[in-house]
Amino acid sequence: MAHRLIACEHCDYVHVEEDLPPGSVACCVRCGSTLYEAEKPRFDKPLALAITALVLFLIANTYPLLTFSMEGRTETNTLGSGVLTFWQEGFPFLAFMVAVTSIIAPLVLICAHIYVLLPISLGRMVPGIKTVWRILAIIRPWSMLDVFLIGLLVALTKLTDFAQVIAGSAFFAVCCLIPTVLLMTVTLDPRAVWRCIAPKGLRYLTEDDLSVDGSNSPQTPNTKGVEEGLMTCHTCAMVVAKGNLDHGHCPRCGAVVHMRKPRSLSRAFALLLAAGILYIPANVFPIMTVTYLGKAEADTILSGVGSLVQAGEWPIAIVVFTASIMVPIVKIVLLGWIYFATWLGLSGPLRQRTRVYRITELIGRWSMIDVFMVSILAALVKLGNIASIQPGFGAVAFCGVVILTMLSAMAFDPRLIWDRAGRRKNIIATHDKHANTVNNTRQTETQGSPS
Ligand SMILES: [Zn+2]
Ligand SMILES: [Zn+2]
Repeated sequence: MAHRLIACEHCDYVHVEEDLPPGSVACCVRCGSTLYEAEKPRFDKPLALAITALVLFLIANTYPLLTFSMEGRTETNTLGSGVLTFWQEGFPFLAFMVAVTSIIAPLVLICAHIYVLLPISLGRMVPGIKTVWRILAIIRPWSMLDVFLIGLLVALTKLTDFAQVIAGSAFFAVCCLIPTVLLMTVTLDPRAVWRCIAPKGLRYLTEDDLSVDGSNSPQTPNTKGVEEGLMTCHTCAMVVAKGNLDHGHCPRCGAVVHMRKPRSLSRAFALLLAAGILYIPANVFPIMTVTYLGKAEADTILSGVGSLVQAGEWPIAIVVFTASIMVPIVKIVLLGWIYFATWLGLSGPLRQRTRVYRITELIGRWSMIDVFMVSILAALVKLGNIASIQPGFGAVAFCGVVILTMLSAMAFDPRLIWDRAGRRKNIIATHDKHANTVNNTRQTETQGSPS
């Protein structure tokens, strides 16, 4: 039986897909990225986990999250209170981002799993199933309940020193929800879902469709997709021949397919530059103002870490310092270096460059900890002059940095690292060749001219 083709989304090398033993992973032999995992054809476990996650999500959003007591006064908040407080305090951008990342995206993620997996398990099809599964791929990186939980723990650490804080039912629901969603993702094979919902009779490309012979060694890379005229769908990862596109769309999922992401390098550069500029106000302006017994004090990201150190909360201080100060700056510098090296067409350690890109893509979202912490504190501490916390412009700029760096990494097409490598050498070689030709012509002209 001929093997199906699969192209690496990080370097565009085409491999032939083999059945793997359970629990194993196939990696790209060229760049080392994960290509695919052993097939998990059963949908009952992820479906049960998705239904459990929905129940936990409803509890997390209806019951109290934290109860704050001080000087005989009590304030209770829910998961959505931070969104409302940001909106009321005149920070619509923060309200929107916290709503998307902590409520809307997790809800869409859970509901999309149930909407798709339930009919598949029953052997049926429902309208819009492909569109829902396609939207899921877009929404997935923006679901940040795990980051929210760390923000919640940091907020709790800050409050327990000077007030009594009691965790409500929603807090425990969020604690159970995160491993449930994680298990749901781990036990599900998205490739198996795409195969189930693909149009009937869809033909997949196999090794027989390649111009080079890869039949003797199915695990070795054969060729680059671009050289074979093969394109990979960004959404469902199907390998399609250029001529087989359905009016520029993927025949399986319906998403628009490009050989490379359009204007990838310039968009990624522009977004990263904007993030770099915003990083300055994010650290200069206060992220919140704390009023305690009539005395107001502005807190920047760095001074917030300092107060955690003074309080002896070293582990939390290290987490906040890493997520809020180290991660954004390291991400900006590393992505800038990758983009610049790609633009120049430098060769060199391409495998390492691809690995660094994959890591920066994964860690960026963890910087949202501080934004979530401010949203929880501002919603909970509202006792006027006794104790109150107002968000500051620094939090808006900082949230902007996190979003822009994430968008920049998404806009970049890592296959360009491999496409453009060695270009500079070629340009220099061409330039030298041209210079030699000019010199030879000049010499010939000089020799040929009458003295
Ligand atoms: Zn690869
Ligand atoms: Zn597709």
